[in-house]
Amino acid sequence: MKKVIFLMIDSLMPEVLEDCIKNGQAPALQFLKDRGQYWSHCTSVFPTMTATVDCSLITGEYPDQHRIPALIWYKPEERRIINYTNGALPVLKLGFGQCAYDVICSLNDTHLSKNVTTIYEELKERGRTAGSINLIAHRGQKKYKIDLPFLLKLATRSRKLEDEISGPELFTLGRVVRSTFSPPLPWGWDESFFRSYGINDDFAIRMLKHLLQHQLLPDFTMVYLPDNDHQVHRNPRKARGILSKVDQKLQSVLNQFSTWDQALEDYIFIITGDHGQTLVGPTSEHNVNLEELYSGLNITPYGEKSKPENDLLIANNERMAYIYPLKSGVMEEIIERSRQDKRIDVIGWKEKDGVCVYSGDREGKLFYRRGGSLQDIYGASWTVEGEWKVLDLQMKDSSTITYGEYPDGLARLSTALYSQDIPMVALSAKPGYEFKSAYAPTHLNGGSHGSLHWKDSTVPLLISGAGQDQRPFEYPRLVDLKNYIVKLLS
Ligand SMILES: [Zn+2]
Repeated sequence: MKKVIFLMIDSLMPEVLEDCIKNGQAPALQFLKDRGQYWSHCTSVFPTMTATVDCSLITGEYPDQHRIPALIWYKPEERRIINYTNGALPVLKLGFGQCAYDVICSLNDTHLSKNVTTIYEELKERGRTAGSINLIAHRGQKKYKIDLPFLLKLATRSRKLEDEISGPELFTLGRVVRSTFSPPLPWGWDESFFRSYGINDDFAIRMLKHLLQHQLLPDFTMVYLPDNDHQVHRNPRKARGILSKVDQKLQSVLNQFSTWDQALEDYIFIITGDHGQTLVGPTSEHNVNLEELYSGLNITPYGEKSKPENDLLIANNERMAYIYPLKSGVMEEIIERSRQDKRIDVIGWKEKDGVCVYSGDREGKLFYRRGGSLQDIYGASWTVEGEWKVLDLQMKDSSTITYGEYPDGLARLSTALYSQDIPMVALSAKPGYEFKSAYAPTHLNGGSHGSLHWKDSTVPLLISGAGQDQRPFEYPRLVDLKNYIVKLLS
């Protein structure tokens, strides 16, 4: 049985990867693609934000099951917004200690549903070993003490962070959590305060190489590489050059072996991304200002607990937003106002046991629910009524639904809306646009994501070293990978 190394490159996009390979800028990825199987259209979940996507990757479930609605969302029991640390300003506003606690502790051990099993838990049950290097989603069966660096301790002023968190047998969150193994990884600058305490590519790759060199890798190891995302947000036009730097690091991993072919004799490599990115236009018109759109309504101020007089609360996830109506009658107003804005191309909400969809850009209304005589290309059954164009649905043969602009759109939109049992409206922005609201980071003339659109939702998938005879997927989705990996290791 070969061991599996899973490299998750944040914001890895198929066009960028393919251009890079064509131009000879990505020899490692080219080698792995030539020797393996490649899909240019693997579909993520919605919202296309790392926290939700990572939880789907490790549980094999959509957000309606794992219950992590987004990177930013509203928790009605505590009347507060959850922010798994997106943007310095909003994090400061909410309190660094609270956000750090939410992302390090609550996400895995409280928010992530106990009704789903993570790949780490499942492999352990089956007598296999597993590891997670720097992934935000990491629930496993071992408990770890958090070792907070002095400066972080000062910044958080929080004793709560002395709690234990769970992870697989091999587990790192940079400098903050590390399982013990021998020999230990020598200290490096890449885990200093100046380098986000090790949440970066250099640290993750150095750790992976150390584990390879000392034959310490478990049967399955997931490695998170965040640098591509950060840099493409700022310089989307330089995405190729940015990915070629990631490739250099992958080359250094392959160079650990006597030959690159030997790497594939010993290991299976799976490489994918969590979501894509879309270029946001340069002018303020490319920011859809949500406070202006709902002006006159009583909007919960960012960072404050919702109060009885508030009409709604905004949870801004860049090119996606959840709008939570907090009073009866407000939902209709939110939907009507959203429909007036052509820059919002999907407006979805729960109705009866299904989902209603409008578009600010296209005429008509769509209603759909699970079950029925229609099947989509993923084998899910649906009843669909109204205007199909709203979600760009098309019909293949006489009964198979295929997707245009919004891959796996029916399941992805509905599972986002059913990730919580409260009224909520999901908004998705047209390419070129991004939502703006108090304290939310924006990226005019940069890259952004979060939406249901294929540009944010389609990632490449590369599997190398697992044999080339059979293609395991026709229409791959990130939610399919957990079961595929468990099978590889059975
Ligand atoms: Zn991002």
